[in-house]
Amino acid sequence: MQGHPYAAPPPGMQCSRCGTPIDPSRAVYSAKTAMLVCASCEASETVDTGYNRAGASVSFGALSAGLLANSYFCCIPTFVTIVFGIVGIVAGIRAIGIVNRPEYRAALGSKYGLYLACAIIGLVLASIGALMSTLGLLGLAFNATHSRHY
Ligand SMILES: [Zn+2]
Repeated sequence: MQGHPYAAPPPGMQCSRCGTPIDPSRAVYSAKTAMLVCASCEASETVDTGYNRAGASVSFGALSAGLLANSYFCCIPTFVTIVFGIVGIVAGIRAIGIVNRPEYRAALGSKYGLYLACAIIGLVLASIGALMSTLGLLGLAFNATHSRHY
């Protein structure tokens, strides 16, 4: 049985997330904020953490692929940057779709904007990388065919 419903809970014995008074013997500490939370918030936080991990991995994945697609100035061969470009475009579109899902958007909270930005920047960088790499390849092919005449 719960205690008196109108009794003021002792300080700190409220869920730090939803404000529900909590039974100290059943209170759990949030892994995220290290504050007391009730069991239902703890459960939803675990779910949120899952969404956060998934959101982070897809959006940062798209961003890294986008950055790698633009690393043709390093010693990475052009066809590799094209592959990263294609991977980044696919990953970026997928990441934008994923973080925009209502359940993700709700779980990500303030990080939604960050993840969306990473996904969009990744997509843009990947598109630029793929385009520049393709142009670079075409340029090389063009030079190769023309240099034969000289
Ligand atoms: Zn709660």
